[in-house]
Amino acid sequence: MSEIVKIDNEYVANTYARFPLVLKEGKGSVIYDENGKEYIDLGTGIGVTAFGIADDEWQAAVTAQLGKLQHVSNLYYTEPCAELAKLLCEKSGMKKAFFANSGAEANECAIKTARKWGCENKGEEYSTVITLINSFHGRTITTLAATGQEHYHEDFMPLTEGFVYAEANNLESVKKLVQENKVCAVMFECVQGEGGVIPLTQEFVQGLAELAEKENFLLIADEVQTGNGRTGEMYAYMNFGIKPDIVSTAKGLGGGLPLGACLMGEKTENTLKFGDHGSTFGGNPVCCAGALNIVSRIDAELLSHVKSKSEYIVKELSTADGVESISGMGLMIGIKTKKPVKEVLDYCMENGVLCLTAKDKLRLLPALNIPMDVLEKAVGIIKTACKED
Ligand SMILES: *Cc1c(COP(=O)(O)O)cnc(C)c1O
Repeated sequence: MSEIVKIDNEYVANTYARFPLVLKEGKGSVIYDENGKEYIDLGTGIGVTAFGIADDEWQAAVTAQLGKLQHVSNLYYTEPCAELAKLLCEKSGMKKAFFANSGAEANECAIKTARKWGCENKGEEYSTVITLINSFHGRTITTLAATGQEHYHEDFMPLTEGFVYAEANNLESVKKLVQENKVCAVMFECVQGEGGVIPLTQEFVQGLAELAEKENFLLIADEVQTGNGRTGEMYAYMNFGIKPDIVSTAKGLGGGLPLGACLMGEKTENTLKFGDHGSTFGGNPVCCAGALNIVSRIDAELLSHVKSKSEYIVKELSTADGVESISGMGLMIGIKTKKPVKEVLDYCMENGVLCLTAKDKLRLLPALNIPMDVLEKAVGIIKTACKED
């Protein structure tokens, strides 16, 4: 066993079931382990390294900022933070950005904003947030409460109150909860990521938007995984022709550095006031400089490549031997395999392709700019991995 694995197993908290693989370095969509073995990276650290490992442009932006100022706190203004907020608002049509350091924290801000909006616009008791069964919103006590999967809740009770769970793609289920509770918001992932890469239907999302209008509650799009170009649009809600009141995002935003954002629309831009929320690290200039580079490169051309690479993967794999079905959107793809997914995953790793899983599916979140020849090679290996003997 590698010495690093031994030390890690002894001293790092037992919360992760790591693969027996020590990763050392990489470039773009290729990554090397400590023995120099090469892998094609289709996981991007769970959708984080949006333009791959050690991307030149991103690296230049980050190191330039690193040499100037690494942190100042939110007592002062910095250029990367202001410029990133502006760019995100321009690209999303939202009005203001609050910066956090992770997806869970971006969601915490979204939930606080929704609760305060409910309090001010509907009455103090309108604090309930509806989320969807099988959702994933984070690991803090409040975002665990928001997560509609009971097995994450076990052993951590009591969680934050005021969350109820509707069935995804069942508008009647949402309507019923809106009648039974004093609701300030519905929070949803356009494509449930951890839940198994399951997209919401156009009908449901459209219906949700109409219901929000009629019943006067907010829509919170959790774009932590689906955001920043992942689904072939800047944000996944854009695929559905709706406009949420609050958008949370993180993962790919910083290109590999920890950064989350909660974007607020017309109804909520002024809800949080001085002192209502804050973060010591939030809006860190190095993370923001990296994100500024990433977000500015998510343009129409890149998004069209995301879509065409997605079509390529779906075309190749949907008819492949041993593949039961494919789900997802853009470069967020779930593959239901006939073989147990662990077997497929292990075969891929042995043969130089790093994939993820989500529930019982193989999950692919490749870099948005993965070169076509690298993708073709990886898809070939996945095909062989799925094939039943
Ligand atoms: C990953 C994820 C989160 C949590 O993000 P962290 O950065 O791990 O806190 C929240 N929501 C969704 C949809 C996610 O995929």
